[in-house]
Amino acid sequence: HADIAMYNAKHDGRNDYRFFNHDMQLRTARVLALENAMHQALERNEFYLQYQPQLSIKDHRVIGVEALLRWKHPELGMISPAEFIPLAENSGQIIAIGTWVIRTAVNQLKRWLDSGLPPMVMAVNLSAIQFKHPDLPGLVSSILEQAQLAPEYLELELTEGVAMGDPVHAIGIMDDLHSRGVRMSIDDFGTGYSSLSYLKKFNIYKLKIDQSFVRDIATDADDSAIVSAIIQLAHSLGFITIAEGVETEAQREFLLKQGCDELQGYLFSRPLMAQDTEQFIKLNQQQTDLG
Ligand code: C2E
Ligand code: MG
Ligand code: MG
Ligand code: MG
Repeated sequence: HADIAMYNAKHDGRNDYRFFNHDMQLRTARVLALENAMHQALERNEFYLQYQPQLSIKDHRVIGVEALLRWKHPELGMISPAEFIPLAENSGQIIAIGTWVIRTAVNQLKRWLDSGLPPMVMAVNLSAIQFKHPDLPGLVSSILEQAQLAPEYLELELTEGVAMGDPVHAIGIMDDLHSRGVRMSIDDFGTGYSSLSYLKKFNIYKLKIDQSFVRDIATDADDSAIVSAIIQLAHSLGFITIAEGVETEAQREFLLKQGCDELQGYLFSRPLMAQDTEQFIKLNQQQTDLG
């Protein structure tokens, strides 16, 4: 049976469609259910943020946290951002959700700083649609003003694909955000197609080396060569570097030798609830103060 289906899938486009039809129906049903559920998710408080610490490679001090969006639906359970963010982008709901993320993250950092936690940056992911929306720079400024947080505490993460999709337009938006004092970084760097002549014009602060390169740096000669090249390129353009997805001591040692500036990954911490983040930062402060 399976052999015949495989044979048909290879040799007949129409059967190919039938073969996958049932899967496609299931997928479509899930997409529709999620899209429907998302309409009420904000007002029902089903979204929350976790925070993943980012550490300086030199002394392991926490220099910032990345806000990561979580959705817990009462019946469907935890839904990964990798699944629901593309749907939120398609339906346009990403604007409302993304605004909630920026406001919640900014207010959280303000409370932490007011309560005496050491200075650090709040990194927030932006989707393509948010980035291109003409209201974004004004929105960001007004959220910061309302929270009374200085703009240099906020860092907006933009994927390489989004920045390079329309680089001339992106340069204009980055310049606007930069003039307002907000920092920008390029997320998942190395997975898209970067034009170096545009990269050097980007008003960014940091390149985030994608975790797919970090995973095998200790064992794969190609990946280790790519990562050291990215670090050198970033530094020569005046950007700092952070490695994502750092899970092992061997990866940390390699990144230290190559001159990477910052680290983020399970080796130090998973994304944490706000209260646990606070505890992590306090403990980290005590440890790094001791030297
Ligand atoms: P990202 O921005 O590249 O975030 C890093 C992802 O890697 C997070 O997955 C994080 O939990 C995971 N991670 C961190 N350290 C490690 C590690 O050591 N090993 C492994 N295997 N994974 C690690 P998460 O939270 O599932 O988020 C996935 C993606 O969803 C993010 O990738 C980002 O593109 C998107 N996302 C998350 N929150 C938001 C948001 O508020 N707005 C937008 N537009 N996108 C978001
Ligand atoms: Mg990110
Ligand atoms: Mg990333
Ligand atoms: Mg990613």
